[in-house]
Amino acid sequence: MTRFLERIHRGDLLVADGATGTNLQRMGLPPGLPPEVWVFERPEAIRSLAASFVEAGADIILTCTFGGTRLRLRESTLAENIIELNRRAAELARQAASQRPAVLVAGSLGPTGLLLKPYGPLTPEEAAAAYQEQTKGLVEGGVDLLVIETMFALEEARAALEGVRRVTDLPVVVSFSYDRGTRTMMGVKPSQVISTFLPLGVDVIGANCGTTLENMEAVIREYHTAAPEAILWAKPNAGLPEMGPDNQAVYKVTPEEMGAFAKQYIEAGARIVGGCCGSTPQHVADIVQAVKSNE
Ligand SMILES: [Zn+2]
Repeated sequence: MTRFLERIHRGDLLVADGATGTNLQRMGLPPGLPPEVWVFERPEAIRSLAASFVEAGADIILTCTFGGTRLRLRESTLAENIIELNRRAAELARQAASQRPAVLVAGSLGPTGLLLKPYGPLTPEEAAAAYQEQTKGLVEGGVDLLVIETMFALEEARAALEGVRRVTDLPVVVSFSYDRGTRTMMGVKPSQVISTFLPLGVDVIGANCGTTLENMEAVIREYHTAAPEAILWAKPNAGLPEMGPDNQAVYKVTPEEMGAFAKQYIEAGARIVGGCCGSTPQHVADIVQAVKSNE
């Protein structure tokens, strides 16, 4: 069994990292530029953000490859180097994790940015092939598990899982973003995610990004009601962003609030908690403190 599943089945509560995009922007990544660009241009910045999550006490750090498919990067020259991009990104995370050998590296796979037919141009096969290619690079770079995240449509998540499974049988998390209360942008409900993906052998069902900390708790409760046996992952935004004076998104949820809510997610049935957009290393440190203090 893999290290990740061993720890989960032993009953460990695990803390995942915070945001990639918003933290890299604080470090100077221009808004609008994909973080993947820095894998080649500023690898030390990518490594240092990951290292700061490890120092904060995270058990799992994600690669900066949320947009790392050739479809998402179709307007960038990075699209010609998808396998190398993902391999290098995984290696950077691995290097950051090496300061604490128990830390796990999760390969992040986000939406392609294109809708599947009949809503958009993409066939399921084209989507699966793009995720297959990305996964190949991530696995070559040494990830411990894969996280298909911020999904809003069942079909795209299914294609991503198909692509991953063509490459590896490493553990997989499938995580949806509920942007309309407890529904995704496409109207998908937590119970549908459970009934679609548990039978497909997914190891962990999750929710990430989304809206408020309260809505995240409602989603976790719906998951848990639909399948009390499911291993659940909760990685909310630090609240909904407000526009700051310099046109930068400002996230107002404090590290203490994030820690308090993480505890509630555990009570609601989550086994892995972390933060999405707006979550700094300090947010992760407070989650670690809140979650591990009564373990
Ligand atoms: Zn997010």
